[in-house]
Amino acid sequence: MKKEDLLEKLKKKIIIYSENFPGKNLVFSDGNNLSEIMIIGEAPGQMEDKMKIPFVGMAGKLLDKMLATINLDRNKCYITNVLNFRPEKNRKPTLDEIQIFKPLVLNHIEIIMPKKILLLGSTAAQAILSHKGPLKIVRGIWKKIEINKKYFSVLTTFHPAYLLRQSNFKKEAYKDFMKFKKF
Ligand code: URA
Repeated sequence: MKKEDLLEKLKKKIIIYSENFPGKNLVFSDGNNLSEIMIIGEAPGQMEDKMKIPFVGMAGKLLDKMLATINLDRNKCYITNVLNFRPEKNRKPTLDEIQIFKPLVLNHIEIIMPKKILLLGSTAAQAILSHKGPLKIVRGIWKKIEINKKYFSVLTTFHPAYLLRQSNFKKEAYKDFMKFKKF
């Protein structure tokens, strides 16, 4: 099956869960689905829900700026989130929600087949790496994951929304981006 068809099929699987997020739009992905670089965030916010595009709000602006420092933009990478619907009042996804969306986001990775994946924040680390403790334990460290006998290289960094609140961690985040570029 073609990549476009597989992505459409995945969208249909995800839409089933829209009933858990009444009135919210599907925010599926942005960028280039042929890219070897995949970026995975947490969940859409208010702006993303409105525009139906991931990372278009304040955190997205910071993400674009950080990507630019390693010569990346949205035409050169593929961006999605663990949850594809906005949790009400921008709350963090629950563990149950992460468990529900985990197989869907793993399927998304398998379809895109990226060479490297950047995880933004703890929800993405939890879904993709099954990481439960503090982010600092996995942050900045390359890991390998296996999905149905296919292997993917994954690096975790801070979520840009966190960096907007805690700008003292930006320096570390930029180091992670450099590490991501060099791989
Ligand atoms: N935060 C995320 O994790 N994803 C978005 O799309 C926007 C903000």
